[in-house]
Amino acid sequence: MKKDLLKVSFLGGMDGVGDKNMAVVEYLDTAIILDCGNSLGVDLPGVNYEICDVSYLETIKDKLVGYVITHGHLDHMGGLKHIVPKYPAKIVGSRYTIGVIEKSFAEETDFIPQLITVNIDNHEQLRLGNMSVEFIRVTHSIPDASAICITTPLGRIIATGDFRLDPEPLDKQPTDLKRLLELGDQGVLLLLSESSYSEVEGRVPTESTLQQSFYDIINTAEGRIFVAAFSSNMNRTQMIINAAIQAGRKVMLDGRGMMSYAEIAVRQGILKIPKGLIVPISQVENIDPDKILIMCTGGQGEENAALMRMSQSLHKNVRLNKGDTVVVSSTPIPGNEVSYAKLGNDLSRIGVILFRHPTYELDCCGPLHVSGHAKREELREMIEMVRPKYFVPVHGDFLRRKYHAQLAKGLVDDSSVYLPSNGDSIIISDDSAAFGPNIPSGTIYINQNSAVVDKDIVDDRVILGNDGFLTVIVTISKASGHLVTSPDIISRGFIVMRDNQDLMNRLRTLIKQEVKRSKDKLATNQIQDRLADFIHKETGQKPQLSTIVNRV
Ligand SMILES: [Zn+2]
Repeated sequence: MKKDLLKVSFLGGMDGVGDKNMAVVEYLDTAIILDCGNSLGVDLPGVNYEICDVSYLETIKDKLVGYVITHGHLDHMGGLKHIVPKYPAKIVGSRYTIGVIEKSFAEETDFIPQLITVNIDNHEQLRLGNMSVEFIRVTHSIPDASAICITTPLGRIIATGDFRLDPEPLDKQPTDLKRLLELGDQGVLLLLSESSYSEVEGRVPTESTLQQSFYDIINTAEGRIFVAAFSSNMNRTQMIINAAIQAGRKVMLDGRGMMSYAEIAVRQGILKIPKGLIVPISQVENIDPDKILIMCTGGQGEENAALMRMSQSLHKNVRLNKGDTVVVSSTPIPGNEVSYAKLGNDLSRIGVILFRHPTYELDCCGPLHVSGHAKREELREMIEMVRPKYFVPVHGDFLRRKYHAQLAKGLVDDSSVYLPSNGDSIIISDDSAAFGPNIPSGTIYINQNSAVVDKDIVDDRVILGNDGFLTVIVTISKASGHLVTSPDIISRGFIVMRDNQDLMNRLRTLIKQEVKRSKDKLATNQIQDRLADFIHKETGQKPQLSTIVNRV
């Protein structure tokens, strides 16, 4: 890198709904990592989530001075516990963000990270190498979310993180528009702004519209009430708790995520819960149904979440019954539409009284959810406030980012808007910017035990899942090189052998021919190649093949 160049590289965040957000900012001997997330909702066998392939960090590890994290959602911080132990540096964030990160390390690793909490309201500047960082409060759907301004020797970079511009959030802590405007006045080199809802016109309605809906439902419902909400949304949790207090109901929290996020928020004074209000879910049978409200996870129809298990009688303590009231305080995240619809169907079939945000008017109640992500008017307002020289839409697939780029027309020079992919870098000099060389990038799979799963294993599982497997056992005489017995064939998930005797016989004949032809030089891969061709030609399938040759 030449002496006066600023390099911004993208390891993640540029596909899906903004999965595994992660970028690297480098200038001379300093490198800062901006967010370090995992991906959510991976549909691969035995894979819990993905993180970024960070082999690039090996080349810059000596100048890595910090990880700066916009907020405590997993797609922005879930990679830290895997990556920081290998490439250690300070982790910097707001108080709630650091609380969430601290817990994620304590629960799953022995590594003790160096954590730095910054005030996001007083414009504190934290020096990191030849750069400094400032956190700026934004409204999102988790406490203490922030944009980050990184001041480099070439100018300021503002990364919005996830945000919306709600003037009346429940916690009365709206996005710090004044500071964003000030920074815009002083000059911003590069804006990285999130693109989640860049194809949706308008603005996200204010959150304050929701409180009355919860009061109305919870005050009038009879019997048990269940509310499914995002576990990290503390404003939402507070609204539901406020309504439970007014209705004289005890609150039970279910789901590990729900307990974790709430515990941190109570400790930090963000979530206000009167003493004695929360009771353990194991007490559910001992309390009058009219005095119970159960808050749980699973509003997206996630398979293992509490609400799903309650609806399928798989939950340890609670089973949903006809006449229970269930409130689903969410809309489906893109990609979750099918499971979300299935949940609604399952709940209706049980006969619960159901309130869901997408159909709230049909269900005769007020709105039950607002998104945490800015729509087009708010995205436009962000660009207008910051007025950057260069603009990179981030956090979203190409199409979402393209719509966001179109939105910037007239606000930022066309030739100054970039749409990088994961693995791309942008090099900025004093007077110009351009795509630089690609950096190594990709995906690492993580299983339920937080361990890495090799890509080849996942590939094998996909083949096994699609076409099953076939094992051939061949026993040959060391002395003669001839077959001692007829080859054994084992099939699982491929074909039913008793219904395909003809095919099995022809397969055995082929194996015998192959043994005869190769004499004593029989190799397993040679026989396997022939079998694979034969099976594909005969059945159109490609099962996982294994051949075992015994020499006796
Ligand atoms: Zn978020």
